[in-house]
Amino acid sequence: MIRVDEIRLPLAERTAEELQGALTERASKLLRITTGEIGTLRILRHAIDARKKPVLFHVYSVAVTLDRGDEQKILKRARCDKARRWEEQQYSFPCEKKWELGDSRPVIIGAGPAGLFAAWELARHGFRPIVLERGAAVEERLEAVAAFWADGTLLPDSNVQFGEGGAGTFSDGKLNTGVKDPQGRGREVLEVFVQNGAPADILTEAKPHIGTDILTRVVKGIREDIIAHGGEVRFHAQVTALVMREDDRTGKRLCGVRMSTGEELSADTVILAVGHSARDTFETLYEQGIHMEAKAFAVGLRVEHPQALIDRSQYGREADDKVGLPAADYKLTARDPVSGRGVYSFCMCPGGFVVNASSEPERLVVNGMSDRARDSGRANSAIVVTVSPEDYGDGSPLSG
Ligand SMILES: Cc1cc2nc3c(=O)[nH]c(=O)nc-3n(C[C@H](O)[C@H](O)[C@H](O)COP(=O)(O)OP(=O)(O)OC[C@H]3O[C@@H](n4cnc5c(N)ncnc54)[C@H](O)[C@@H]3O)c2cc1C
Repeated sequence: MIRVDEIRLPLAERTAEELQGALTERASKLLRITTGEIGTLRILRHAIDARKKPVLFHVYSVAVTLDRGDEQKILKRARCDKARRWEEQQYSFPCEKKWELGDSRPVIIGAGPAGLFAAWELARHGFRPIVLERGAAVEERLEAVAAFWADGTLLPDSNVQFGEGGAGTFSDGKLNTGVKDPQGRGREVLEVFVQNGAPADILTEAKPHIGTDILTRVVKGIREDIIAHGGEVRFHAQVTALVMREDDRTGKRLCGVRMSTGEELSADTVILAVGHSARDTFETLYEQGIHMEAKAFAVGLRVEHPQALIDRSQYGREADDKVGLPAADYKLTARDPVSGRGVYSFCMCPGGFVVNASSEPERLVVNGMSDRARDSGRANSAIVVTVSPEDYGDGSPLSG
């Protein structure tokens, strides 16, 4: 395959066929071949270039296969620095062993993104995982969150942070990451989302976004897939302790988990995917002697603006979905000259809402959330500073 980057098209209303045609024409020009020589053309990435605002461009990367001709020779002849040979990175599961009758089933604590994807991969590869989630299934959780926002009734285990889908379910649902991904895990995650009903454009957008309204259906689809492949997902199943036994060789050996009902489930392998808000769980695990380390985190507030103000600032004009110009986002960083501490925007949420995301009575957490359409007319973002163990530390890993 040949990859061609930086194909720039002016903003315009285009059907999918017109876009395919325009990209084929540009790619063939760059490769110095005829459009007829291109067999297939697939969009790999799309972004908006607003550096010369208010004149804006769509920027595409595409993968091209040739109907005839040798890729190497064509690239040599084209001498185009935007084109190169390219192979798609496919994620491959790092273990061949299959679960066999008599093997203990892996237990996963928590059905947030970490737990759901661990379960999905294990189920797909025959390990029959059991997921234990303290909160409700996403359909029931949606009702609990709606009631909380309407009258303030907080369910401690099913709220904006707890319950199937985890803390990211009621958020902006941004899917981009700065983490390097040589194994293709990010692509695998996006493909699983699409297989379960997310819009296919998340595979190509530089800043992919699903939206809470669609994500809740996607989460249900992933759960059904886990079950269809031999996994089990239990709701209202809070783990309160790991069950350990003395072992002559290693000192202590994990042999299962205990739930709030008192029920014990035996397991040799337990994945803790409890997220960052389950403070009661961290405390019990710490008391059990599980090794923990303090880490830095960010804390701050949410700031809100009219979306039109952000659009004009970023694009020099209004957003317009018809020409592929969505509600604009932003990213800001600064350093306080006195303390030297960094301040930055995080999780900017175009066209969204600031929501009450609390999970404990008498405490307040706010988050930014948006639906797929991002059409609330308001923009919000977290403005945060990093705090590190040196700021809050008293020796305990839980002091933060
Ligand atoms: C307020 C807030 C706002 C955020 N906003 C964004 C955002 O806009 N964009 C973004 O990309 N990221 C955002 N994040 C971060 C994102 O939500 C997390 O990175 C992500 O959810 C972490 O996934 P996880 O699976 O590790 O944990 P979580 O999503 O927290 O999931 C953990 C799950 O474990 C369950 N659980 C906990 N303890 C137990 C137990 N003892 N027994 C059984 N189940 C248990 C919980 O109910 C929960 O469902 C936000 C986080 C928070 C807290």
